[in-house]
Amino acid sequence: MNAPHELAQKAARESNKLEKRLCRLTGQAIADFNMIEDGDRVMVCLSGGKDSYGLLDILLKLRERAPIRFDVVAVNLDQKQPGFPAHVLPDYLTALGVPFHMETQDTYSIVTRVIPEGKTMCSLCSRLRRGILYRVATELGATKIALGHHRDDILGTFFLNMFYGGKLKAMPPKLVSDDGRHVVIRPLAYVKEADLERYAQEKQFPIIPCNLCGSQDNLKRKEVKRMLLEWEGRWPGRVENTFNALARITPSHLMDATLFDFKAVHATGIAQTHGDIAFDDEPCDPPSQNTPDSAQVRWI
Ligand code: SF4
Repeated sequence: MNAPHELAQKAARESNKLEKRLCRLTGQAIADFNMIEDGDRVMVCLSGGKDSYGLLDILLKLRERAPIRFDVVAVNLDQKQPGFPAHVLPDYLTALGVPFHMETQDTYSIVTRVIPEGKTMCSLCSRLRRGILYRVATELGATKIALGHHRDDILGTFFLNMFYGGKLKAMPPKLVSDDGRHVVIRPLAYVKEADLERYAQEKQFPIIPCNLCGSQDNLKRKEVKRMLLEWEGRWPGRVENTFNALARITPSHLMDATLFDFKAVHATGIAQTHGDIAFDDEPCDPPSQNTPDSAQVRWI
């Protein structure tokens, strides 16, 4: 049996490995999608959940060793949900020495007034929150808005869109906001939720519960999450490969005529590596070893 100090050493090594992995994957995603550029002012949206705490913590670590200079400002929106502990984030951020802005807007009253009881409030609530955060980003002079969505959020959205929306669409690592005025980034795009959970426990982030509004959980999202967990347990590698597939798309082998000009297809007489192989089954290409790796600037 291991002595207590050996167990402690092992735990410290594991913890160190976890932190390194989170920094490496976040740095890789930032570089692959050119998420943060020299001189950027990054507004980190902090909800008080494990993901946004992890995002802020890792971004601050990466900033110390980044090849470029950028500012970070943390922002929280207090939506006046009952029981929201308004002091938790300011206390945490003050102790950390990070510039922050707490925005208070009572969207909770608006949503509960407008939406009939029993109906889901999330769509209106998030629309209001989005508008407020865009305004705050402008007021703070933020050039990027960073959100704490991770790999499993991206995959979950992909399957929800496919199962219930009939389209191949996930959650972008970097995109212009719907009002066209901001760039939204998701630096944790390559990070697994389980790693963020462990990291939050180890760092003892002061988590604020996410069910204060009393809204029902999104049952479809929960169902997809369960499916992915089951896959992970029964078929190791399947979830990883599915995620990697989001970055390895062959439009000629799908059916979206806006992405591939099927009408213009004609025989060229030249052998095509990705041409049709007629009656044979399409081979299952070996999985990519990693997520996209076009990193031009080394963060890691
Ligand atoms: S869960 Fe609550 S706080 Fe979150 S979007 Fe839905 S209504 Fe708003």
